[in-house]
Amino acid sequence: MDNEVLYLNGDFLPLSQGRVPVEDRGFQLGDGIYEVIKVMNGRLVWLEDHLERLERNLAAVSLSEAASGHHLDFVLPDLVVRSQVDHGFVYVQVTRGFAPREFVFPNPPHPTVLAYARSKPAPAVSEILMGTTLHPVRDLRWARCDIKSTNLLAAVLAKEEARQAGAHEALFMAEDGVVREGGSSNVFAVLDGGLRTHPLDNRILGGITRKHVIEMALQEGYPVEERAFTLDEVMSAPAGRCEVFTASTTKDIMPVVRIGSQVVGDGKPGVVTLALLDVIRRAQAILVGLEPPPALGVRPASV
Ligand code: PMP
Repeated sequence: MDNEVLYLNGDFLPLSQGRVPVEDRGFQLGDGIYEVIKVMNGRLVWLEDHLERLERNLAAVSLSEAASGHHLDFVLPDLVVRSQVDHGFVYVQVTRGFAPREFVFPNPPHPTVLAYARSKPAPAVSEILMGTTLHPVRDLRWARCDIKSTNLLAAVLAKEEARQAGAHEALFMAEDGVVREGGSSNVFAVLDGGLRTHPLDNRILGGITRKHVIEMALQEGYPVEERAFTLDEVMSAPAGRCEVFTASTTKDIMPVVRIGSQVVGDGKPGVVTLALLDVIRRAQAILVGLEPPPALGVRPASV
């Protein structure tokens, strides 16, 4: 990947040559915020939403001004061009920067601001239609999951446990059986034709995909309730009356066909899930100037 370009504190250089000091607080303390933005047809999808979340998250950790002089709204599209990414993502990270190791904030901080673009193919239609599998794990993360922090150890361990269990994604569960979210995705259930997902609070990340799924579902006439659901509710629903899907920037909507050892619904991607995926794929294609892709599903006659 010789053409990958890094933006680091105002300079552009080959990604492989990027260096950050050992005492960068992002490295030593996980004291940073990040974003991942989808690139499609060389264009950034929902860039404003991501930059707005970055600003909000930086403010939440007292780093309000850290990214403001960097004009990321220009730098990120520029990186996509410089790195010749047609389909993939842009990664952005802002840390409290280099300072002799102390827990308390350095005054003043010298934040590290970096970003790079990387090519990555979209999930193939065959992969989408095969569906994804989730592995439930106790949610042992901190109580500010709404902050997209670079402290990702709990997610790393959960996703690795899921991989070793033969599943694609971890499913963070509260003690009382409530489904919170995936290891790096939000989770929706379709119960009795309506969508349910965990409400926005400190226990989940407010995903950009989640937000657009809700908007599009409402436009399409599906009822949406931001109300937590339990794994029991999903598993006890009659086959064909329940669907589950994940929502994330890098994978859009992925139909869930198995959670742990249990099959979801009839074990195939649900009709509402595929209908919403078609809506989102069409909307994104139009946004980036591509022909809308062929539909994967059929819109159910009644909602
Ligand atoms: N929840 C968590 C814990 C995540 O890491 C992610 C991906 N960053 C999401 C949800 C989905 O968010 P988005 O749609 O903004 O990618």
